[in-house]
Amino acid sequence: MNDFDAFLTTLGSPMDILAGFDRQAAQAAGVKPTTYIEWEKAHETYFGTTRSTRKQVHAVRIARETGKSLDQILFIEQQVRSLDTEEEKWKIRLALLSVRGNYETLKRRAKDIVPEVDAPAPESSVRFGKPRKGKCTFSATGDASDIAALEYALRQNLDANRPEGPQMYEAFHDLLHKDGAVPDAVPRPLVQIPLADYIKVLGGQGDDTILGLSDGTTMTGAEYLTRFHGSDLEVALFHPQHGPVNLYNTKRFANKKQRDLARATLTTCPVPDCRHAADNCEVHHIEPWARGGPTNMNNLSVLCRYHNRTNDDDPDRNNRGRIQMRDGTPTWISPRGTPVPNNTHQYGAMHLLFGK
Ligand SMILES: [Zn+2]
Repeated sequence: MNDFDAFLTTLGSPMDILAGFDRQAAQAAGVKPTTYIEWEKAHETYFGTTRSTRKQVHAVRIARETGKSLDQILFIEQQVRSLDTEEEKWKIRLALLSVRGNYETLKRRAKDIVPEVDAPAPESSVRFGKPRKGKCTFSATGDASDIAALEYALRQNLDANRPEGPQMYEAFHDLLHKDGAVPDAVPRPLVQIPLADYIKVLGGQGDDTILGLSDGTTMTGAEYLTRFHGSDLEVALFHPQHGPVNLYNTKRFANKKQRDLARATLTTCPVPDCRHAADNCEVHHIEPWARGGPTNMNNLSVLCRYHNRTNDDDPDRNNRGRIQMRDGTPTWISPRGTPVPNNTHQYGAMHLLFGK
């Protein structure tokens, strides 16, 4: 008998293998976790403590009689896993163990033997993925009739000589933009101006910010821009330590101004690897509003809806990390206190202007 035959022989007598299961030995031998965890569960079923000792002994005996392989045993365990009661599991397990034949036969017979579990219908939902090389994936779950109607519409006029997928995408694209149904994404450019280090931010006056200059004079942010940059552009001022200072436009914004400035500071949610663009983010109070945190730029950050919910707002909670202001840049701090940047899309003003 060569090594391969010997290997198959062991697989063909799984009750001997499972009886002596040892998790640490399996780990040490380099077996992958999903595999030895399955073995362990099977070991517990056939050799662990149970109230159904009689059925357990019976199961081991039938498995040996019908020559079940290890793969067949694991398949059977997979089949009975979602059944409701222990009694039901033993009943179906014994029925499957009694089937004679190879793996395919067992699989075929299982369709008749294992009762269908009534899984709840999935919820209607849409998901968007991370862009990669200029492409992005989204998926939608909805009423079967809606999705069927969409498929029907996309399949009209397919060219039989070309693959279907790309043609259906073209049809989908046309559908999205027909009669301006979905407007094209228009990112709004914002000119970001770095303030020199020697200019001090002294505070606010009405809607504006007072800047202190090294010669002892002061001027407002608006005056500074008119003098040095002209006033026709929509511009934001950033200070190397304080971060966003103010946003200027021919029109005056109230809350929108702060939202725009927060968005210019970071172009994505600051949580590492989060793909959500600032345009789709919420504006988050770093020191929570409910705990007296002010709606000032030095207390605001963009944060996607999900991370806004999971952020550790409560200073006593420390499970998911929290946003803190570091050098004028909202930064994610891990539960262990390590600041970690989100490198997904580094075009935020503080990074571009000051390399932070
Ligand atoms: Zn996020």
